[in-house]
Amino acid sequence: MTVDAPTRTEVGNYFVSNYPPFSQWKPEFVSEALDALNQPARVNDPLGLYIHVPFCRKRCVFCYFKVYTDKKSSEIEVYLDALIKENELYSRTPAFQGRQLRFAYFGGGTPSYISERQLRYLVDGLNKHVTWKNAEEVTFECEPGTLQKSKLETLKDIGVTRLSLGIEHFDDEILAANGRAHLSPEIYRAYEWARAVDFPQINVDLIAGMMGETEEKWREAVRKTIELAPDSVTIYQMELPYNTVISQDILKKGIDSPIADWATKRRWLDYAFEEFLAHDYEIAGADIVATKKKTCRFIYRDALWHGGDMIGIGVSSFSHFGGVNFQNAHNFEEYVRILNEDRLPLLRAVSLTPKQRLIREMVLQLKTGALDTGYFQRKYGVDVWEEFLPVYENLAAEKLLGRANGTIQLTRRGLLEVDGFLPEFFEPELRTVRYA
Ligand code: SF4
Repeated sequence: MTVDAPTRTEVGNYFVSNYPPFSQWKPEFVSEALDALNQPARVNDPLGLYIHVPFCRKRCVFCYFKVYTDKKSSEIEVYLDALIKENELYSRTPAFQGRQLRFAYFGGGTPSYISERQLRYLVDGLNKHVTWKNAEEVTFECEPGTLQKSKLETLKDIGVTRLSLGIEHFDDEILAANGRAHLSPEIYRAYEWARAVDFPQINVDLIAGMMGETEEKWREAVRKTIELAPDSVTIYQMELPYNTVISQDILKKGIDSPIADWATKRRWLDYAFEEFLAHDYEIAGADIVATKKKTCRFIYRDALWHGGDMIGIGVSSFSHFGGVNFQNAHNFEEYVRILNEDRLPLLRAVSLTPKQRLIREMVLQLKTGALDTGYFQRKYGVDVWEEFLPVYENLAAEKLLGRANGTIQLTRRGLLEVDGFLPEFFEPELRTVRYA
């Protein structure tokens, strides 16, 4: 994959979210994850907790997550007990002793799908062993149609500081065609309540390139988002990993990709960047803009992208701890069964070499648009520009990035295309393997 990445949106992973590629994580390395958890606690290192809630009202046709749309309330409660148990098992490991959470992140799926009673039950259960009372950030992902004002008040009460609303688009035809469970009236209702409840930070998600997207509809989506005035906006470009409904239709029925090509999606993202810049926002990464009217942070992302420890609890969740990447069992019943046996439900892992840790942090931090080379010098004793000289020189010649005053800065085009060229930094034997 290079700067000449194919322009059609074909089936396959495009975005880089971790390193080494997920295909290199193996069951035989799970013992390395357990070893990391048995090390003495590094009490001064930041620690985060990701809580995966895999339930949704409907399955979106572009979704590639492990989600369940058919679980009864009693099954959800079995799952919540498993989450609480998993959290307790981690809290008993040597590496957890005396460590404070810097952030917590409720992701999914749709965390806001569960009821207020279930939410209180989950939080009380988790907080018996690990608390986010002193955390700097607690994010909670919501689907607009699952919210009521009282549920938002509960979220505020349990300590949520950053509410993330999965709006994706405002056009009802597009929302329906892509299998979203909500329509536009639910967006406005939820947003108004969220503002009234007064969360410190509200993020909304948009997707450029949903099925049925047009130039006019995208412009309208950007205009309506600016009108809403959230604190930050995450703008995804649609990709088609193998397990989406759309991808399966392409592979099995031989239909053409119904998703706009990459050049068009980048143009839409570029348009959004310009509009947000003109309305007092700044670009805070390859897919995020934040208002200049107040300080907006995204500690979850920044901690993870600087090699921080994060434990992911829940079916199929990902963790990074003590330089080891690991993932939980994919299957709901198996996940619950293993926890009922008082064991951590780890499925596969990979322990990173020092070089791989450096690459992981470097490629992820490049996605912010700027890299502090002094950080890598201090942490790894490496001048990253020199270490990856041919790649950086090539990208600089392509006008995708440049270097000044100890910073590697991506150009706008570099930012729009960053995931297309990040694999150039991978170790040679990992450049051509399947990513996920
Ligand atoms: S709401 Fe999110 S997690 Fe749920 S099906 Fe849609 S894309 Fe997937």
